[in-house]
Amino acid sequence: MAVCARLCGVGPARGCRRRQQRRGPAETAAADSEADTDPEEERIEAGPARCSLLELPPELLVEIFASLPGTDLPSLAQVCSRFRRILHTDTIWRRRCREEYGVCENLRKLEITGVSCRDVYAKRINPRVKSGRFMKILPDYEHMEYRDVYTCLLHRYRHILGLWQPDIGPYGGLLNVVVDGLFIIGWMYLPPHDPHVGDPMRFKPLFRIHLMERKSATVECMYGHKGPHNGHIQIVKKDEFSTKCNQTDHHRMSGGRQEEFRTWLREEWGRTLEDIFHEHMQELILMKFIYTSQYDNCLTYRRIYLPPSHPDDLIKPGLFKGTYGSHGLEIVMLSFHGSRARGTKITGDPNIPAGQQTVEIDLHRRIQLPDVENLRNFNELSRIVLEVREQVRQEQQEAGEDPAPPREPSAKGPDGPPAEGSREPGSGAEAAGQSASSGQGQPFVLPVGVSSRNEDYPRTCRLCFYGTGLIAGHGFTSPERTPGVFVLFDEDRFGFLWLELKSFSLYSRVQATFQNADAPSPQAFDEMLRNIQSLTS
Ligand SMILES: [Zn+2]
Repeated sequence: MAVCARLCGVGPARGCRRRQQRRGPAETAAADSEADTDPEEERIEAGPARCSLLELPPELLVEIFASLPGTDLPSLAQVCSRFRRILHTDTIWRRRCREEYGVCENLRKLEITGVSCRDVYAKRINPRVKSGRFMKILPDYEHMEYRDVYTCLLHRYRHILGLWQPDIGPYGGLLNVVVDGLFIIGWMYLPPHDPHVGDPMRFKPLFRIHLMERKSATVECMYGHKGPHNGHIQIVKKDEFSTKCNQTDHHRMSGGRQEEFRTWLREEWGRTLEDIFHEHMQELILMKFIYTSQYDNCLTYRRIYLPPSHPDDLIKPGLFKGTYGSHGLEIVMLSFHGSRARGTKITGDPNIPAGQQTVEIDLHRRIQLPDVENLRNFNELSRIVLEVREQVRQEQQEAGEDPAPPREPSAKGPDGPPAEGSREPGSGAEAAGQSASSGQGQPFVLPVGVSSRNEDYPRTCRLCFYGTGLIAGHGFTSPERTPGVFVLFDEDRFGFLWLELKSFSLYSRVQATFQNADAPSPQAFDEMLRNIQSLTS
């Protein structure tokens, strides 16, 4: 077939008859960058130095095709039978799998090496194969091709990669869908056991997808303790998908609900109900078990993004684990919005559900803690904080009387003239800089009477700011923003002192890297925050 392609300035093939028709993307791209000259003329001028893409040796074509986006390759295969033949070369597809999805496994070697580093969940015994090997991976990878992995697994399910929040009433959650070996796995991230905020996150698989046969991907539910079983995934719309288990009997345990509860408790809390003396806490735990287990892994997920980061931010935004009294540890997302920082709940509880803004920090209102001697005195700290709150109220009232369009009170904070526009990215970092120059942190201790789940909080802090924390009754009734103190300890830890509750929450950064989790724009991130908030309010 004599279809020509002009690449890197080389001319068309001799005898080309269908120059204008059916151009592949590579040809189109190359041709577009050239002036439209008469090919006949060109050929005469350049003579034998020119050649067609078709005349290139196959190994070079393989190299060229392997560098194109995988989504362009099917149309390239339609150009001619030679291209189609070359596109059967699996190294092309292997490179696409690696570069676009981070797949680094070698299909041929998998039988020896196992599927992935987290293969506890990814391996299966193949009952059909009676080899001497103890374990054999179920799918027949000998005859599996990277082209099928690319098209039937990775490309097909590309829209579910990234971070998600399940709709489990007030409890929320954090799901990370990743390409892991030749699997797509949905990992639920769980906070460490209460109250150890400094411990790493725990994760367990909720589903996995892989190619059981050459051209069909299989979804398996991983919930329960009886191994993978039949499941289903439906991509509802952009940024939303749902999972379904087709064999919920696999979630049941022989010891009935009792055993299921005890197992869940051990996983979730790392202890038994008898170890938890607090009656209210026992009730909350039981309530969570009853509520969350009824879903049986049939869940709807909505996409979440990590907060965009700016060099001037007070600290790097991101996910944190925080103590929430009897509710245990919860996951909170810290993000910066000009002169404000916000903590949004990714997991929640019956009082303040997931999606709500648990704390808001006014980065224009520094709080100067009293001297060490007076730091223990709750009334002294309370007086300082309430003074700031009064100031905020007055400014809000004045702003309300002002005929000019209302602006955030923070925009005319006590530190100086109103900033231009609503975004003032410099404020936090400036404050941090001032502190650094005026000394290395200050002693910190909780006032007498303030309770903390974790006594192991840092005893020096960098900076403190005025903030508000959201409290509410059960079922998110009568929510109210109450005054408090945001305490910055270091790059990875902060605290919030809830004045009215006389309690202290300690937060520690989630040290994990997440792929496919960046917001396409700051606006998209803000919209995501609004959406997850509106779902529970
Ligand atoms: Zn299941």
